[in-house]
Amino acid sequence: MATITNSSSTPSVLTDGMHIMVDALLKNGIDKMYGVVGIPVTDLARIGQGKGIRFIGMRHEADAGNAAAAQGFLTGKPGVYLTVSAPGFLNGLVSLKEATENGWPVIMISGSSEREIVDMAEGDYEGMDQLNFAKPFAKAAYRIDKPEQIALGVARAIRAASSGRPGGVYLDVPAALLGATMDQAAAEATIYAVEDPSPAMIPSTESVTKALNLLASAKNPLIFLGKGAAYAQCDDMIRQFIEQTGIPFLPMSMAKGILPDTHPQSAGAARGLAMRTADVVMMIGARLNWMLNFGEGRHWNPNVKFIQLDIDPTEIDNSRKIEAPVVGDIKSSMKLFLDGLKTIPVKASADWAKLLDADKQKNVAKFAARTSSTAVPMNHYNALGAVKKVLDKNPNVYLVNEGANTLDICRDVVDMQLPRHRLDCGTWGVMGVGLGYAIGAAVTTGEPVVSIHGDSAFGFDGMETETICRFKLPVTIMVLNNGGIYRGDFPNIGKDGDPSPLTLDGAAHYEKMIEAFGGKGYYATTPAEVEQFLTEAIASRKPCFINVQLDIHAGVESGHIGNLNPQPVIGPLAEQNKKPAK
Ligand code: ADP
Ligand code: MG
Repeated sequence: MATITNSSSTPSVLTDGMHIMVDALLKNGIDKMYGVVGIPVTDLARIGQGKGIRFIGMRHEADAGNAAAAQGFLTGKPGVYLTVSAPGFLNGLVSLKEATENGWPVIMISGSSEREIVDMAEGDYEGMDQLNFAKPFAKAAYRIDKPEQIALGVARAIRAASSGRPGGVYLDVPAALLGATMDQAAAEATIYAVEDPSPAMIPSTESVTKALNLLASAKNPLIFLGKGAAYAQCDDMIRQFIEQTGIPFLPMSMAKGILPDTHPQSAGAARGLAMRTADVVMMIGARLNWMLNFGEGRHWNPNVKFIQLDIDPTEIDNSRKIEAPVVGDIKSSMKLFLDGLKTIPVKASADWAKLLDADKQKNVAKFAARTSSTAVPMNHYNALGAVKKVLDKNPNVYLVNEGANTLDICRDVVDMQLPRHRLDCGTWGVMGVGLGYAIGAAVTTGEPVVSIHGDSAFGFDGMETETICRFKLPVTIMVLNNGGIYRGDFPNIGKDGDPSPLTLDGAAHYEKMIEAFGGKGYYATTPAEVEQFLTEAIASRKPCFINVQLDIHAGVESGHIGNLNPQPVIGPLAEQNKKPAK
């Protein structure tokens, strides 16, 4: 703020772009920001902190983006992260795109260099045409050039991130803008809060009636819940619909907990049979993408018909015919579905439930033997069986989960009891999102977080262990160390004697990392130790790290999605890949 005297000698109080930006964010309830500072955004972060925006300084921009994205998923409002120009911006783009794929609202604000120098390619410090580079990776991208338009730019970013199918928005703030001045009173007059940033989108009653009639005609109806259903925050309505109709449900991984996994109508333990047998499937906020084999093929009943509830009209028919599309937001849609049941009653048959129950019992018994085994060295099943015992008693814990086998097996073994308490690799199946999500979840909710990583996945963002300690977050990091990508026993099939491309250090004491930053490390070699250490760590509400020693032979290549790998037909790998896994 500076005072100058203008020609008419009335003193005018000036403000600058950084202060206006902070005021515009605060006016819209944005009181947290994740990021890594440097030229030209350092003082923007410091001014924000001074005015009441909690700034979580992180170690890599992609992690900051993941933390902000987790906040977006958990709250339904955009999380915000800040990066420096070119390299910081490029690091941050990865998580901007991932958030967009996941349909989570997030805003990446990046400082950028002098426009006229960049446009003439004169070679500025970190000079890059960031706005245009961001466009294909974002739902929307804007540059603000004038201090008078900062509030408008923030408003556009918030609306684009949170309306319709949410996604990632890029906001380019040139150094010149951040330093630009204008009259403070005039600047204040530009600031406003966005009106209704994610407006309800009500589907047509005809589409709901059609869907209900199809559901009522089904012999074996099934409901799939996706992370869009979790995001919509209408858990009670979804539960009421499922219980009133008696239809079995299957949650996608981040929809676990909308209804508890222990709910009698959960078909989780009979997933294969449910998909192969269902004749009408109602998709609530879940896409028929690679994760569901595009709704076709041997996993599905060849005569299945689909109802799909989605906010994005272009999602319908994305991979196959949808018989009954319901385009609207899930909250408004579920309200109409509940109303519609009064005139079009739907009741799933007892035979269908019985068929699934028999299969469930068989599978649960098979699973229990593996998860309760005391064998050492541990494998994913008995290590995660011990985790399950602890988390069953701590339903408030937020669970972050990434890896290949660590992801697949944890998703199946560990039940969720509450909605929006599980964050994982998401739509793209990305590694290296975990600690960012853990930080975002802890900062957003203040609740304990348990972040379970494969040893490879942990490597991408492991330095955020320091951030967790610096901010004293109640996060317990667990690394399931089986010594490699997929597992640690793949040989080098060449002659140079180097570790194989998949091999990492199966004897690494990862828990020592957190001790360097003042946290508490544990080394667990038995299921009993996992249970004891995790119980202690959660109760402490302090940064903790449990290195879980697995057998280096435990795990299968690519977890449950090995089918996505091309298979060599000749040479040593053709034989190697057939080796049974433990
Ligand atoms: P999952 O991976 O859990 O199957 P997806 O991310 O594939 O879930 O699908 C989520 C879907 O939910 C997306 O197509 C998205 O457009 C939709 N969606 C997100 N939020 C809402 C909402 N509030 N109302 C309706 N649909 C939504
Ligand atoms: Mg591993």
